[in-house]
Amino acid sequence: MKLIFLGPPGAGKGTQALGVSSKLKVPHISTGDMLRAAVKNQTPTGLAAKQFMDAGRLVPDAVLIDMVRERLSMDDCRNGYLLDGFPRTVDQAEALEEISPPDAVVNIAVPDGKLLERLAGRRVCGKCMGTFHISKLNDERICPVCKSELIHREDDKPETITRRLKVYREQTAPLIGYYESKGKLRTVDGDNRPEDVLLSILASLE
Ligand code: AMP
Repeated sequence: MKLIFLGPPGAGKGTQALGVSSKLKVPHISTGDMLRAAVKNQTPTGLAAKQFMDAGRLVPDAVLIDMVRERLSMDDCRNGYLLDGFPRTVDQAEALEEISPPDAVVNIAVPDGKLLERLAGRRVCGKCMGTFHISKLNDERICPVCKSELIHREDDKPETITRRLKVYREQTAPLIGYYESKGKLRTVDGDNRPEDVLLSILASLE
Protein backbone atom coordinates (compact mmCIF):
# COMPACT_ATOMS: atom_id res chain seq x y z
CA MET A 1 0.00 0.00 0.00
CA LYS A 2 1.14 3.54 -0.79
CA LEU A 3 0.21 5.78 2.07
CA ILE A 4 0.65 9.41 3.10
CA PHE A 5 0.35 10.80 6.62
CA LEU A 6 -0.87 14.37 6.55
CA GLY A 7 -1.23 16.61 9.59
CA PRO A 8 0.30 19.62 11.33
CA PRO A 9 3.66 19.44 13.13
CA GLY A 10 3.08 17.67 16.45
CA ALA A 11 0.05 15.68 15.24
CA GLY A 12 1.90 12.42 15.98
CA LYS A 13 2.71 11.43 12.39
CA GLY A 14 6.14 10.03 13.29
CA THR A 15 4.90 8.06 16.29
CA GLN A 16 1.98 6.58 14.36
CA ALA A 17 4.12 5.85 11.32
CA LEU A 18 6.27 3.46 13.34
CA GLY A 19 3.25 1.27 14.23
CA VAL A 20 1.54 1.49 10.85
CA SER A 21 4.66 0.81 8.75
CA SER A 22 5.48 -2.35 10.67
CA LYS A 23 1.86 -3.53 10.46
CA LEU A 24 1.59 -2.88 6.69
CA LYS A 25 5.21 -3.91 5.99
CA VAL A 26 6.09 -0.81 4.02
CA PRO A 27 9.05 1.50 4.75
CA HIS A 28 8.47 4.60 6.86
CA ILE A 29 9.92 7.52 4.92
CA SER A 30 10.18 10.73 6.94
CA THR A 31 11.51 13.63 4.88
CA GLY A 32 12.24 15.53 8.12
CA ASP A 33 14.46 12.63 9.34
CA MET A 34 16.16 12.41 5.94
CA LEU A 35 16.89 16.15 5.97
CA ARG A 36 18.16 16.08 9.58
CA ALA A 37 20.54 13.23 8.62
CA ALA A 38 21.72 15.26 5.62
CA VAL A 39 22.36 18.28 7.87
CA LYS A 40 24.28 16.12 10.36
CA ASN A 41 26.42 14.61 7.58
CA GLN A 42 26.92 18.04 5.98
CA THR A 43 25.91 16.82 2.51
CA PRO A 44 25.13 19.45 -0.17
CA THR A 45 21.38 18.87 0.45
CA GLY A 46 21.91 19.27 4.19
CA LEU A 47 23.89 22.47 3.79
CA ALA A 48 21.18 23.92 1.54
CA ALA A 49 18.33 22.82 3.83
CA LYS A 50 19.62 23.84 7.27
CA GLN A 51 18.76 27.54 7.17
CA PHE A 52 15.16 26.82 6.10
CA MET A 53 14.69 24.14 8.75
CA ASP A 54 16.11 26.22 11.60
CA ALA A 55 13.79 29.07 10.62
CA GLY A 56 10.73 26.76 10.55
CA ARG A 57 10.27 27.32 6.81
CA LEU A 58 9.84 24.77 4.03
CA VAL A 59 12.90 23.60 2.12
CA PRO A 60 12.42 24.37 -1.62
CA ASP A 61 10.18 21.93 -3.52
CA ALA A 62 12.85 20.92 -6.06
CA VAL A 63 15.15 19.62 -3.30
CA LEU A 64 12.38 17.56 -1.73
CA ILE A 65 11.01 16.21 -4.99
CA ASP A 66 14.46 14.95 -6.10
CA MET A 67 15.08 13.43 -2.67
CA VAL A 68 11.73 11.59 -2.61
CA ARG A 69 12.00 10.48 -6.25
CA GLU A 70 15.34 8.83 -5.47
CA ARG A 71 14.10 7.24 -2.22
CA LEU A 72 10.94 5.80 -3.80
CA SER A 73 13.00 4.20 -6.58
CA MET A 74 14.75 2.00 -4.01
CA ASP A 75 14.05 -1.69 -3.76
CA ASP A 76 12.27 -1.64 -0.40
CA CYS A 77 9.48 0.55 -1.87
CA ARG A 78 8.29 -2.00 -4.42
CA ASN A 79 5.32 -3.00 -2.20
CA GLY A 80 4.50 0.56 -1.23
CA TYR A 81 5.55 3.29 1.19
CA LEU A 82 4.43 5.34 4.12
CA LEU A 83 5.38 8.98 3.55
CA ASP A 84 5.54 11.17 6.67
CA GLY A 85 6.10 14.89 6.04
CA PHE A 86 5.78 14.75 2.25
CA PRO A 87 4.03 16.21 0.32
CA ARG A 88 3.79 19.55 2.10
CA THR A 89 2.78 21.71 -0.89
CA VAL A 90 0.43 21.24 -3.83
CA ASP A 91 3.45 21.27 -6.19
CA GLN A 92 5.00 18.39 -4.22
CA ALA A 93 1.67 16.49 -4.36
CA GLU A 94 1.48 16.94 -8.12
CA ALA A 95 5.06 15.67 -8.51
CA LEU A 96 4.17 12.61 -6.42
CA GLU A 97 1.22 11.88 -8.73
CA GLU A 98 3.82 11.49 -11.50
CA ILE A 99 6.41 9.58 -9.46
CA SER A 100 4.14 7.09 -7.64
CA PRO A 101 0.58 8.16 -6.71
CA PRO A 102 -0.64 7.27 -3.19
CA ASP A 103 -3.55 4.86 -2.58
CA ALA A 104 -4.71 6.63 0.57
CA VAL A 105 -4.01 9.75 2.61
CA VAL A 106 -4.57 9.79 6.38
CA ASN A 107 -5.11 13.22 7.87
CA ILE A 108 -4.33 13.21 11.61
CA ALA A 109 -6.30 16.10 13.12
CA VAL A 110 -5.29 17.74 16.44
CA PRO A 111 -6.45 21.15 17.82
CA ASP A 112 -3.86 23.98 17.69
CA GLY A 113 -3.62 24.41 21.49
CA LYS A 114 -2.57 20.77 21.88
CA LEU A 115 0.04 21.06 19.13
CA LEU A 116 1.85 23.89 20.90
CA GLU A 117 1.98 21.94 24.16
CA ARG A 118 3.17 18.77 22.42
CA LEU A 119 5.90 20.44 20.35
CA ALA A 120 7.29 22.64 23.12
CA GLY A 121 7.61 19.59 25.41
CA ARG A 122 8.96 17.24 22.74
CA ARG A 123 12.43 15.73 23.11
CA VAL A 124 13.96 13.40 20.52
CA CYS A 125 16.72 10.85 20.78
CA GLY A 126 19.47 11.38 18.20
CA LYS A 127 20.43 7.70 18.39
CA CYS A 128 17.26 5.54 18.46
CA MET A 129 15.06 8.35 16.98
CA GLY A 130 12.49 7.90 19.79
CA THR A 131 10.18 10.84 20.58
CA PHE A 132 9.15 11.67 24.15
CA HIS A 133 7.23 14.35 26.06
CA ILE A 134 8.91 15.96 29.08
CA SER A 135 5.80 15.30 31.20
CA LYS A 136 6.55 11.55 30.91
CA LEU A 137 10.32 11.72 31.55
CA ASN A 138 12.18 11.45 34.86
CA ASP A 139 15.22 13.16 33.32
CA GLU A 140 14.49 15.25 30.25
CA ARG A 141 18.12 14.95 29.05
CA ILE A 142 18.37 11.13 28.89
CA CYS A 143 16.59 8.78 26.46
CA PRO A 144 14.57 6.27 28.55
CA VAL A 145 15.05 3.61 25.84
CA CYS A 146 18.74 3.73 24.86
CA LYS A 147 20.13 6.15 27.51
CA SER A 148 21.59 8.49 24.86
CA GLU A 149 21.26 12.23 25.07
CA LEU A 150 17.83 13.70 24.29
CA ILE A 151 17.67 16.74 22.02
CA HIS A 152 15.31 19.71 22.06
CA ARG A 153 15.02 20.31 18.31
CA GLU A 154 15.95 23.84 17.29
CA ASP A 155 12.63 24.07 15.42
CA ASP A 156 10.66 22.93 18.50
CA LYS A 157 11.52 26.18 20.33
CA PRO A 158 8.48 28.46 20.85
CA GLU A 159 9.26 31.20 18.30
CA THR A 160 9.85 28.64 15.52
CA ILE A 161 6.79 26.55 16.42
CA THR A 162 4.51 29.51 15.68
CA ARG A 163 6.12 29.91 12.25
CA ARG A 164 5.81 26.17 11.47
CA LEU A 165 2.10 26.17 12.33
CA LYS A 166 1.56 29.21 10.10
CA VAL A 167 3.47 27.55 7.25
CA TYR A 168 1.35 24.42 7.74
CA ARG A 169 -1.91 26.37 7.56
CA GLU A 170 -0.87 28.36 4.49
CA GLN A 171 1.02 25.79 2.42
CA THR A 172 0.15 22.26 3.60
CA ALA A 173 -3.48 22.40 4.81
CA PRO A 174 -4.72 22.95 1.20
CA LEU A 175 -3.68 19.33 0.56
CA ILE A 176 -6.68 18.21 2.64
CA GLY A 177 -9.02 19.52 -0.07
CA TYR A 178 -6.67 18.32 -2.81
CA TYR A 179 -6.83 14.69 -1.68
CA GLU A 180 -10.49 14.90 -0.65
CA SER A 181 -11.39 15.80 -4.23
CA LYS A 182 -9.49 12.71 -5.41
CA GLY A 183 -11.50 10.55 -2.96
CA LYS A 184 -8.33 9.45 -1.12
CA LEU A 185 -8.67 11.30 2.19
CA ARG A 186 -9.45 9.69 5.57
CA THR A 187 -9.43 11.91 8.66
CA VAL A 188 -8.77 10.49 12.13
CA ASP A 189 -8.93 12.21 15.52
CA GLY A 190 -5.31 12.53 16.71
CA ASP A 191 -6.29 14.00 20.08
CA ASN A 192 -6.42 10.60 21.79
CA ARG A 193 -4.06 8.08 23.38
CA PRO A 194 -1.46 6.94 20.79
CA GLU A 195 -2.71 3.34 20.89
CA ASP A 196 -6.27 4.50 20.14
CA VAL A 197 -5.10 6.73 17.29
CA LEU A 198 -3.28 3.72 15.81
CA LEU A 199 -6.49 1.67 15.91
CA SER A 200 -8.45 4.49 14.22
CA ILE A 201 -5.84 4.74 11.46
CA LEU A 202 -5.87 1.00 10.77
CA ALA A 203 -9.70 0.98 10.79
CA SER A 204 -9.76 3.90 8.33
CA LEU A 205 -7.62 1.86 5.93
CA GLU A 206 -9.81 -1.25 5.90
P1 AMP B 1 9.41 17.43 10.20
O1 AMP B 1 10.36 16.58 10.98
O2 AMP B 1 8.55 16.65 9.25
O3 AMP B 1 8.61 18.36 11.08
O4 AMP B 1 10.32 18.37 9.25
C1 AMP B 1 11.27 19.27 9.80
C2 AMP B 1 11.58 20.36 8.80
O5 AMP B 1 12.15 19.77 7.60
C3 AMP B 1 10.40 21.16 8.29
O6 AMP B 1 10.04 22.21 9.17
C4 AMP B 1 10.95 21.69 6.95
O7 AMP B 1 11.87 22.75 7.16
C5 AMP B 1 11.72 20.48 6.45
N1 AMP B 1 10.87 19.59 5.62
C6 AMP B 1 10.52 18.30 5.90
N2 AMP B 1 9.74 17.80 4.93
C7 AMP B 1 9.58 18.79 4.03
C8 AMP B 1 8.85 18.92 2.80
N3 AMP B 1 8.10 17.90 2.32
N4 AMP B 1 8.93 20.10 2.13
C9 AMP B 1 9.69 21.12 2.58
N5 AMP B 1 10.36 21.09 3.74
C10 AMP B 1 10.32 19.93 4.45
